[in-house]
Amino acid sequence: MSLRLGVAALVGLGLSVAAGAAHAERPRSVVVPQTGVGPLDLGTGAIPYNKIYLNPCLPNGCVISSGQSNSITNKWPIGGTRTLTKFPYDDATWQKVVACVKDTFSPFNVEIVTDDPSPANHFEIMIAGRPTDLGMSSAIGGVAPGGAQCGQYLNNALVFDFAAVWSGGQTTCDQSCIEETCSTAAQEIGHAWSLDHVTTAADPMTYNPFTGRRYFQNIDAKCGSDCVNGMQYGLTCGGLNGQERVCFPCTGSTTQNSYELIGDFFGFGPGTPPTVKIDNPRNGANVMAGFAVSSTAVDDSGLLARVELTVDGMKVGELAKGPFVFNAPASLGDGTHKIEVTAYDMHGTPGKASIDVYIGPPCEAASDCQRDSDVCIDGRCVPGPSVDGGLGQSCTTGADCLSGRCESDGTNSVCVEDCSAPGTCPGDFGCLDIGAGNGAGICWPGYDDGSGGCGCDSNRPGGPVTMGLLFGVMVFTWRRRRR
Ligand SMILES: [Zn+2]
Repeated sequence: MSLRLGVAALVGLGLSVAAGAAHAERPRSVVVPQTGVGPLDLGTGAIPYNKIYLNPCLPNGCVISSGQSNSITNKWPIGGTRTLTKFPYDDATWQKVVACVKDTFSPFNVEIVTDDPSPANHFEIMIAGRPTDLGMSSAIGGVAPGGAQCGQYLNNALVFDFAAVWSGGQTTCDQSCIEETCSTAAQEIGHAWSLDHVTTAADPMTYNPFTGRRYFQNIDAKCGSDCVNGMQYGLTCGGLNGQERVCFPCTGSTTQNSYELIGDFFGFGPGTPPTVKIDNPRNGANVMAGFAVSSTAVDDSGLLARVELTVDGMKVGELAKGPFVFNAPASLGDGTHKIEVTAYDMHGTPGKASIDVYIGPPCEAASDCQRDSDVCIDGRCVPGPSVDGGLGQSCTTGADCLSGRCESDGTNSVCVEDCSAPGTCPGDFGCLDIGAGNGAGICWPGYDDGSGGCGCDSNRPGGPVTMGLLFGVMVFTWRRRRR
């Protein structure tokens, strides 16, 4: 098979590169031992660098020469001068690959860049072309230099991620192709940092197939997944599927924690927490026990591990995917309760949003309510006209209203609350039927619902009224909110 031929060619160059294994669905990523390279002497007190340059070799490919390649000092077993052809997919695909690599490395204090940092020190991943461009086997998906000592990395390492391989010959690169391209970039640079292959399929350092995005796993993973005929790197394999072995080059160890190793080199970054918003109820809302909590959560990676609801510090629900709507416990008692929604990204970085809500006994009048500014509608205490965003306050969208509802009659837009029947709204408001025809509707300022409670002077429109066709005259008896 072509893979063995390719490997033979490399072995012919005096390099000990292992052949592929039938079990591996991923094209192989070989480690080419380098001679004469190693950590550069950066000088006493030099600041370690942490930039990783993703190079798509646009627009005309990258010229790679034996003994040097661009600004990067590693040597490659490439006969003469070769051109690695450019990243073979469109810009939208490139942006997705870049976003994925950024996401993969986001736990660490490294910076992923797409502009060449030269002449500054940096690591570089060429995500472009095909292995045959460089005279390597078409079955190779990526190549990295070997030679880093255990626990060290190769300064200014250049690695290759052959982008054309991952679409299986297609001209477009689907999500699975993007994930493979991305995790290969991570694996190759990992090799330059002395990381070995592991058997954990969810880690980028593996040959084992995986669906979804691979992340560096904070676990003691068994090294291997790459064994051929019971061997790899001259080490004997055994264990599950005959694919486990001690770790190379850290040959004293049987396990590797990829996450910890990279963190040891560069430190951990702050992560990028998901953005969380509680859409309903509003902060400070009066609610009934068993109320629904709806929230939105997004992460820059586009992926979330889970979203949790806690009430007064107790976890009451968890969802793996949206819509993130929960029910608070029906047993929740009267008083103020803290509602918190926490979203976790795939690295476990949390993003939070919290509100306070109030559960009280049913009111009969505003005087029953805890807050002086509240009014009583249908037994519920709700923010009244004297507070910003309260009933009858001017609004543009529902977000302006503590009730979450902003309605317009075509002239005025005000915050409204639901009402069940005529006579249930506070003074100066009437329960305006907006189409149900049963008297239920919304509390509308200055509307006479015929219950005698309003004391307003406007005419009652005949029959059900739809919003936008309301009465033309509006009497506001409270200060309009200034915008
Ligand atoms: Zn590899």
